[in-house]
This record gives sequence, C-alpha cells and structure tokens, in this order.
Amino acid sequence: MQSTRFRTARRAWLVCAALGAAAHAQAATTTQPPDQRADALLQRMSLQDKLRLALTANGTTAYGVAAPPKALNSAAYLAPDARLGIPAVIETNAGLGVARRYDTGATALPSGSALAASWSLDVARHSGTMIAREARALGFNLLLAGDVNLARDPRAGRNFEAAGEDPLLAGRIVGTMVAAVQDQHVLSTIKHFAVNDFETARMLASSQIAEDAMRESDLLAFEYAIEIGHPGAIMASYNRVNDTYTAENTHLLTDILKHDWHYPGFVMGDWGGTHSTARAALAGLDQESAGTAYDSRHFFGAPLARAVADGTVPAARVNDMAHRILRAMFDAGLFDHPVQRAPLDIQADRAIARDAEEKGIVLLRNENGVLPLRPGQRIAVIGGHADIGVLAGGGSSNVIPVGGNVAPDPGPKVWYGPKTYDPDAPLAWLRTLEAPRGSTVTFTPGTDIATAAQAAGTSDVAIVFVTQWSHEGMDSPNLTLPDDQDRLIEAVARANPRTIVVLENNVPPAMPWLNTVAGVVEAWYPGSGGGEAIARVLDGAVNPSGRLPLTFPVNEAQLPRPEIPGAGLDDAVAIQLKQDQNVFYDEGADVGYRWFERASLTPQFPFGFGLSYSEFRVSAPTAHGLRLGAHVANLSDRAGATVVQFYATPPGGVARLVGWQRVELAAHAQADVTATMDPRSVARFDVAHHAWQVPGGTYRYSVFQSTRDQAVSTTAPLSARRIAP
Ligand code: BGC
Repeated sequence: MQSTRFRTARRAWLVCAALGAAAHAQAATTTQPPDQRADALLQRMSLQDKLRLALTANGTTAYGVAAPPKALNSAAYLAPDARLGIPAVIETNAGLGVARRYDTGATALPSGSALAASWSLDVARHSGTMIAREARALGFNLLLAGDVNLARDPRAGRNFEAAGEDPLLAGRIVGTMVAAVQDQHVLSTIKHFAVNDFETARMLASSQIAEDAMRESDLLAFEYAIEIGHPGAIMASYNRVNDTYTAENTHLLTDILKHDWHYPGFVMGDWGGTHSTARAALAGLDQESAGTAYDSRHFFGAPLARAVADGTVPAARVNDMAHRILRAMFDAGLFDHPVQRAPLDIQADRAIARDAEEKGIVLLRNENGVLPLRPGQRIAVIGGHADIGVLAGGGSSNVIPVGGNVAPDPGPKVWYGPKTYDPDAPLAWLRTLEAPRGSTVTFTPGTDIATAAQAAGTSDVAIVFVTQWSHEGMDSPNLTLPDDQDRLIEAVARANPRTIVVLENNVPPAMPWLNTVAGVVEAWYPGSGGGEAIARVLDGAVNPSGRLPLTFPVNEAQLPRPEIPGAGLDDAVAIQLKQDQNVFYDEGADVGYRWFERASLTPQFPFGFGLSYSEFRVSAPTAHGLRLGAHVANLSDRAGATVVQFYATPPGGVARLVGWQRVELAAHAQADVTATMDPRSVARFDVAHHAWQVPGGTYRYSVFQSTRDQAVSTTAPLSARRIAP
C-alpha cells in the first residue's frame, strides 16, 4: 500500500503537470478577447474534440449509469482535456445556493421571490457573489442559476426560484445576480428559455402565445437579464412554445436569441429536454445536458457525428457549438482561474442570506401598530415548526443546509423531496431577542387547534407561523393553505385579536381570515439566516422594506386561468392525464398587475405593495422624456427604507413598471430619486416591422405610497420612436 506522503506528493506532481500543460496551451493568449482565444484553440481541435464539448455527462450515478470519476456528484460534468488544456466543467444547481442532492452543507439564500421583493440590486449582487464563492470552494465552476421565468400564475410550482411577475424587475434582479456569479469566475446560465411558466405536464405542454405578447413579457425579462448578466450559457426549457420544443425551436434559439439579441454564448438543453439530433442542432442547441442518463437516448455525441458525416448537420454548425462553449469558458475565466476547494465561510455567508431575507420580508398588514413587538409581553408562538427551523422549496434548486435538513416530516421520497427545513429557528431567535426586553415566549405546535387557541387566549400577542410547500415538477391547484391552517389561524384570531400571521410559502394564500388578524408578514422561504431575519423584523431591530414582486389575488377566480387542469399532479403523471397539452396565454403580455388592471380587478395585495414601521410621503413624479424623478420624505421618527416605483401608462394602455429606486432614509430625512426609462418597458413589439414601437402621446406617470390606491400621478408627452429588436 502506498504511503500517504507518496500519494500526496504524486497528486501534487500530477496537478503541476496538468497546470503546466494548460499554461503552455494558453501562455500566449490570455490577454486576447475570448472569441480569439476560442478560435485559436479550435484550430488545434479535431471534429471529435469539438463534438465532445457538445455533450455533458450526468455527474451523479443514476438510472444505472455510473458517474465519471471526479464529477463530485454534480448535475453535469464535462471531462478535462489535458492535451488541449481545457479544464473540466463541473455543473451544480442553482440560483438559491449550491444545491447538491447527495452532499450536505451550503448556505441557502431566501427564495428568489424574497430577493426580488428587496428590489435591491445590492442584495442581488451580494447573493450572486456568495453562491459563486461557495460553488468554487466546493469544486464547481458552472452554476445552473438565473431563473427568470415570469410568475405568470401565483400557483406555479417554481415561482420561488425566480423573480416575480414583472419583466423589468425580474430581468434586473436576475441579470445582476448572474453578473456577480460570473465575476467570481463561475460560468452561469440564465434559464429556462422560454415561456416556461407552469410545471404541469411541463415535458410536453405547449405555451401558446402571440409573438408580440411573448416579446413584451417573458422574452423581455430574458432580454434584460442577458444584457445585464452576460451569462455564458442559456438553458432551454422543457416545454414547447407554439408547438415546438424550445430545444429545437429555431425561432427562439436562432432568430431571437442569437440573431436579434446577438447572444454569443451557448445554449444547453434541460435535463431530459433534448429530443432530437439534427432538428435540435440546426435550430441552435449547442449542448445536450447530462445526456448519458436523462434523455431517452443520446442525441448529440455519436448520433451528431453521424449526422455530420451524412451531411444532415454541417460541420460548421459543430464548429459554432464548440466556439460558443469555449468562448463562454474563456470569458467567465474557467481557463485562467481554476477552482480550488476551500472551507466555506459559513458565518459570513449566512449573514448575506440573512440580510437578503431581512430586505425581502414584506409587511402586509399591521393594524394598530401590533408590530414591532412591544417589550414586556407574553408572546405565544404557534405552528409552522417555528421551534425547529424554516421551510425551503423543493426540487433541483433545493440546498441541503449546513447543519443538515431538520424537517420533522421529510415528505415525498421521490426526487423533488425531501421537504427541507433550514435549522434557523424563529422561536430561538425570538427568545434571544425578547427575553432581555422582559417578554416571555412560549411555543405550541398548532397541530391541536384547541390547545393553540388556548395558548393565544392567555397571551398578549399570538404569532402563527404557516407553511406552504411548493416544489419543482408540480403546480398548486389552488390558493388555499394546506393542512387546515386557515382553521388554525381563525381559531387563534378568535382567541386573541392581536394575532400576527407569518407566511413561509411560494403560493400567496387566499386569506379568508385577513380581517380578523392584526398583522401579516410575508417571509417567503427564508433561507439559512431566515429565523433570525424574521425575529428581527417582528422585534423591530429591522424595519421592513420589502415590496411584493407579484400580485396577491383574492381568489383563483381573479386569475386569467381560474383552473390549471392537472395541477397538483406530478408533471409526469399530468402528461398521461392531460387531454389538451396546450396552455393558452390569452392574457398575452398583460401578466400579473397588468392583467388585474385590464380586467378591473382589485387584488388582495397589489404588486409593489409593502408596509414599513416608518411613514413615507412621495411627491408626484416629474417626467422629461425618459427621465423620471420624485421626491421622497420619511415623516417618522424611525429610519427606514422605501422603494419608489415609477409606473408609466402609455396612451390606451395599462400601467407598466418603468423604473425604481430603493432609498434608505434616516428619521425625517428626504431625498430626490430618479430613474431613466428603458423605452422597451413601454413599447409594443411591432411584428410586421420587426421592431419595438414606442407609442407617442400623453403618458400618465405614477408613483405609489405603500398601496396602489394612494398613487400620485402626473401626465407628460413622450415622442414616438422605433427601436430595432
Ligand atoms: C431543472 C433545471 C435544473 C436541471 C439540473 C432540471 O430538472 O429544470 O432547472 O438546472 O434539472 O438539475
């Protein structure tokens, strides 16, 4: 048996030799632009070398296929090529932290909805930096992050991974995060391209949507995110769009992404989302993902080589695929900055996750100033496993946290399980914060409603934690809270009118009890520092400043599709049962708040809504061309932050978010805020002329206080203009 010393010395020699070869291959080229470096490398590559880049292996042993060595249980793996000096690509999920199914220990950000609810590009930047640093430290150099699919329906199972219903907000938040990931020399995706807004029957369903509607909504979110984030890769989605699978959709991949938007990176398929060889390659797919395990058979690799040999796919297309993959790897720094395993800085990373959650929590209701909690109270904490931790969403984005999953009920054994709780218990943090202020904090699980009501009745204030679990692969059939939690809240509120509901959820629940409770706090899936963040908001150490990134409806009847046929079923089961595999996007570009305005509906809580412990007053906006301005004052004795949101209503249209600024204001401080409109945010896409058309005329510009019915508006002219796509 070899001695440890020998093994270590040999490993060091092998590493040096590999680095030496890589350095030799690149020595003369490191300062050249990525396209030139890719071209230089391509000169030395055979067709086989190029084809190899277009197919990744599953990095985990699954479906009877063994993972390649050194693949780190990854989502996908591309082996290194020492001769050519190409490093390994080791891919991991996802946008909310390093999500490894089989290995424990990474920091979980709060859900994407919380990041978007912060409306803070700093939060997005810090979050991106943190997850990329952890990815590198754990040995990965490609993050499958950047979910910018719109929350077109509040019941959609993956909304918690993405950034809400508005293209500008989602595009900026996700784009900023992806730019930060790549600044750490980790290549990032933006996904799932495109119009992948439901999970039900997602492997087959077709999103039927008009060209102009798609350009003005889902695609606009991608366009913004790609411009800001410069992702090395775009992941195609599972669904079809207008009948054609996105991974073989020439219009999406080539006409729009690569031609109109001049996207220089590569398009990878989703796992099991590649369905053909020549069709996909010719449409613009550049890489089949984890094809060794997920697809019904390989489509790239040997079959692609045969298609090139028989002339079905030109060799130039394979050259283009390889060029795009290599230029993305050079651009993100994968050649020049090899990953180095290192310990995680758990405390620093948790602080970033906690800060994101603190800025993303939305205070929805606060009657008679029930919050922040006063000193010297008897506080009854009820339900939601608040004594153990905080809930996380399920599926490929799920981070198994540092400290392990503490779920008392791990839920389904199938892949989108287990139900995960991050071990950051709100109860413990409330006790830590409240005990020195002379309060007592008791806990009742909430499983027995009578006991919970009794605890509430003998306390000064009751805090009910409610949970709603969503996961990839399934939409919720309705907005009703599961597990009889409505009855729990109603009983507690009857026993104590000073009841506060804290939501840990993806789906905004119908709230039949709303008028009977004093407070409602939207905490989303709170992440690794979530228990402390919630406690600090309740206690007043943090002044809430989040604003809703999606509309909260009163009930399903208000939605463009009151029913999602097949929702609540696993996506695979739904395919079998669903007769009609199409989803008709009849609301077109009027997603979320735009739909509510068009249909003259009043939601439970509107997009952009959120209360504060401070009181702010915003002046009517000013508008000079694309430049908007307003004045905001903090009228209270308490420092806080607000988000001044500018909306523009084009002649004959509905209001659209066109800019915002998040401002921190000391007590009684004031500030001027400005925003410059991106003209696409008010434009129509003119299909006949293949251009954006900004309608000329009188526009209404509005800003809101905390609720949309307290809008202050002005009107101003804007000239018509046409912009190339
Ligand atoms: C998801 C992707 C994910 C991939 C790899 C798919 O099921 O749709 O978002 O990145 O799996 O795990």
